[in-house]
Amino acid sequence: MFPYFCYTAIFILGAFIGSFLNVIIYRLHTKEPIVKARSHCPHCGHILEWYELVPIFSFLIQKGKCRRCKHRISMQYPLVEGAGGILFLMVVVFNFPAIWQDFGWALEFSIFTKLLAFQFLNILYLWAVLSMMIVIFAYDLKHYIIPDKILYPAIILVICYKLFDFWSFINWDLSGISNLEFEVLKPLLYSFLAAAGALAFFLSIFLITKGRGLGFGDVKFAFFMGFFLGWPSIIVGLFGAWVLGAIIGIALLMTGKKVLKSEIPFGPFLVTGTFTAMFWGDEIIKWYFGLLGF
Ligand SMILES: [Zn+2]
Repeated sequence: MFPYFCYTAIFILGAFIGSFLNVIIYRLHTKEPIVKARSHCPHCGHILEWYELVPIFSFLIQKGKCRRCKHRISMQYPLVEGAGGILFLMVVVFNFPAIWQDFGWALEFSIFTKLLAFQFLNILYLWAVLSMMIVIFAYDLKHYIIPDKILYPAIILVICYKLFDFWSFINWDLSGISNLEFEVLKPLLYSFLAAAGALAFFLSIFLITKGRGLGFGDVKFAFFMGFFLGWPSIIVGLFGAWVLGAIIGIALLMTGKKVLKSEIPFGPFLVTGTFTAMFWGDEIIKWYFGLLGF
C-alpha cells in the first residue's frame, strides 16, 4: 500500500512541476517575468482560479477550453503535466530500489545513511535535468529554437553534479565499497569524452551542411547530452534521436504534413533520445552486444 501512496504523491508532484514548466515555456517566449504575474488565459486575459490550475484535471473538466472565453487550450498543457508526472515517477522507480537491491541491510548504518542521502540528491538532480529537457522539447517543437536560458543552466548543473559526484565518492569514503580508484574517476572521464565526441560530431555536421541540417542549438545540446549520459550511453541517445527523427520525418513527408525542404526541429528527438538512454541505455547496449554474440 505504502509504495503506491508514494508513487501517487510523486506523480502529482511531477504534474505540478509540469504545470510550472508550461508557464516557463509560455513566458520564455512572451518575455513575461516567470514568477511575478498570475496565470491567465493567453486569449482573453482571464486570471485563473486555483481550481483552473489543477494539472491535467482542470483541462479535462473544462474540456480543453477557457472557462470564460471558451477559447481552446493547447494540448501542450496536459501533455507537459502528464509527462512531468510520469517522468518524475520513472526516475524514482528506476533509481531508488538500487540501494536496497545492491547493498541490502548488510551495510553499516553510517554508510547506509550516506548512500540514502546521496541517492536522494541524485533523484533531485535527475528531476531538475528532466524538467529542463521537457521545456527544451516543447519550446523547440513550438518555436524551432533551443533556449539558451534553459540549456546553459542545464550544462552547468550537469558539470557541477558530476564533479560533486566524483568529489563525494572520495570524501564521503564511499570508495570503501569498491576499492578501485579508477572506477571512481571513470564516470567523470567518460562524461568528458562523450561530451567532446558528441560536440565534435555535431559541429562537423553543422559546418558541412552550413547550418541547414542542424541548428547551433542542437550542437550545444549534443555537448550537454554527452556530459549527462556519458560513454557508452551517449551512443544510444544519439542513435535513438536519429532513428526517431528519420521515422517521424518520413511519416510527415508521406502524410504530406511537411515537404522535403520544411524545417523539422531536432531538439525533441535529441530529448527523447536522452530519455531513452537515461532509462534504458545499459539494457539496450547489453542487448545489442548480445545480438552480436559478445
Ligand atoms: Zn480565455
